[in-house]
Amino acid sequence: MSPTTRNLDCFCGKRAVTRTTWTKENPGRRFNACLHFGRGGCRLFEWEDPPMCHRAKAIIPGLLRKINKLEGETKKLESEVQKLEDKVSQLQP
Ligand SMILES: [Zn+2]
Repeated sequence: MSPTTRNLDCFCGKRAVTRTTWTKENPGRRFNACLHFGRGGCRLFEWEDPPMCHRAKAIIPGLLRKINKLEGETKKLESEVQKLEDKVSQLQP
C-alpha cells in the first residue's frame, strides 16, 4: 500500500505520511511517520491504530502466507493457460 499524506507535520517541516507495517509484532497496523522514515528522516513516529490483540497477531501472518502462496499458484496457472492458448491458436488452420 502506498503511503498517504496526513495532516501532521514532521520535524523536517514536511507532511507526515501514514503507512502500514507488516512485521510479526504488528501485522497490518498503521503508523504515522516522516516521509523519509527509514531513509534518514526525522524521529516522528506515532501509531495510528491501537495496539493489536494477541489473536490478530496470531492469525494475520498465517493468512498472509496463504494469500502469497495462492497468488503464486494463480500466476503459475495463468502462465499455463497462456501456453495452452498459444498451442491452440497454432493448431487452428
Ligand atoms: Zn521528517
